[in-house]
Amino acid sequence: MKVAKARQASRWPDAIIAWVSDCTFCKIVAGVLPSYRVLEDEHTLAFLNIRPAAPGHTLVVPRVHVRDVWEISKVSHGEVADMVHRVAALLKATLAPEGVNVKHNTGQAAGQDVFHYHVHVVPRWREDGLRL
Ligand code: 5GP
Repeated sequence: MKVAKARQASRWPDAIIAWVSDCTFCKIVAGVLPSYRVLEDEHTLAFLNIRPAAPGHTLVVPRVHVRDVWEISKVSHGEVADMVHRVAALLKATLAPEGVNVKHNTGQAAGQDVFHYHVHVVPRWREDGLRL
């Protein structure tokens, strides 16, 4: 709540707001937590998962804090989808996977751990033994 108010006031730089936020992905977007950035644009960021299910496992997030698929706007959802499409193409070109999983979890019951909307893009190979 404090963070939302700080954003509304918008006199604080984003990095300071992210620093006091309890959202890990807001901190990554603002650059106050390190990440390996794969691609980014004005609306979204794609970075490597710290605990990859497979090599190249990438997370795509909107820059603005939004909790889940029930909260994200149609426009922001479209921007994330565009970035997912770019990431999938990049992974295909660089890692030559035989397939890819594109996955999102909303809610603890569905396995969501970080409550900043994100999409997993996971390269797959036959017999890689993954169960996603
Ligand atoms: P969820 O279970 O919410 O769908 O996925 C959250 C993902 O975020 C997990 O796969 C986890 O490994 C990843 N993650 C959590 N904290 C960090 C972090 O600080 N940096 C990065 N790069 N990934 C993170």
